[in-house]
Amino acid sequence: MSLDSVSKPLTLSDAWRQGMEILRQAGVEEAAADAELLLLYLLGIDKTSLLRDWRDPFPPAKTEAWLGLLERRGTGVPVQYVIGEQYFFGRAFGVSESVLIPRPETELLAEAVLDIADRLWNDSAVPPVVLDVGTGSGILAITLAAERPSWRVMASDLSPDALRTAAGNAERNGVASRISFVQGDLLSPFLAENVYPSFDVLVSNPPYIPSLDILDLQREVRDHEPRLALDGGTDGLNPYRIMAGQLPLLERLPRVVAWEVGAGQAEDVAALLRAAADWQDIRFVKDYAGIDRHVIAIK
Ligand code: GLN
Repeated sequence: MSLDSVSKPLTLSDAWRQGMEILRQAGVEEAAADAELLLLYLLGIDKTSLLRDWRDPFPPAKTEAWLGLLERRGTGVPVQYVIGEQYFFGRAFGVSESVLIPRPETELLAEAVLDIADRLWNDSAVPPVVLDVGTGSGILAITLAAERPSWRVMASDLSPDALRTAAGNAERNGVASRISFVQGDLLSPFLAENVYPSFDVLVSNPPYIPSLDILDLQREVRDHEPRLALDGGTDGLNPYRIMAGQLPLLERLPRVVAWEVGAGQAEDVAALLRAAADWQDIRFVKDYAGIDRHVIAIK
């Protein structure tokens, strides 16, 4: 279907409907929602304006750009990469194919860390130092820094491209001066004495998909999200195994370790943590589907 196959001038609502149809025919699951996001992006408006102005004419000069966006999404590029943005914890983050797209369940990890640290540091004059390992787009580090202005935050990633994206997002969200970015693999950079301050809270949403399972993921994820952000080795547990092994080598054990895990991995990850150190409590936080999604160890 092409946009000029209708004789009456197109309204915004017509364009949205046609976009939805084009995406649906291309096999896109969330065709309605994605067509709407793309239309808002194309027109540079928010949803409130679209709901108010849906009878307005679709600007003919934007037809080519509109079809271009639909085509990119139709070939399987995730809508967030097409528009270059995703919201997390109420803030906008720039995303490109060098970083994982923020997922809603990761907001629950940020929330749990805020809750637990608020209680643990309740009557402490010295606020916690937080490290986000594998920061990707920077969502966890930036959210924690923005929500708790007194905390000191470090964010690391193996990928220099991801760190550039995260630094841009820190700038965009007004916390760039309060986050230190560190390039390196998992906890390795932090094992060297006197290079970085020791930290009290370790958060991470590391890659945890078993290597062979990546082939079975939907095309949007498999073909477009960075493998480095997804692939957790043969059983998906490699990053946890390595970090748990590194914990006792740190100058000081963090008081809180909060990790996102894959479906069915929580017990194994808890066992790795138990083998690495003594904890007062290890608890799981469920995601919206009722799956144990976050493992939190408290000392
Ligand atoms: N920390 C980022 C996030 O939670 C990146 C995670 C990753 O790339 N595995 O989205």
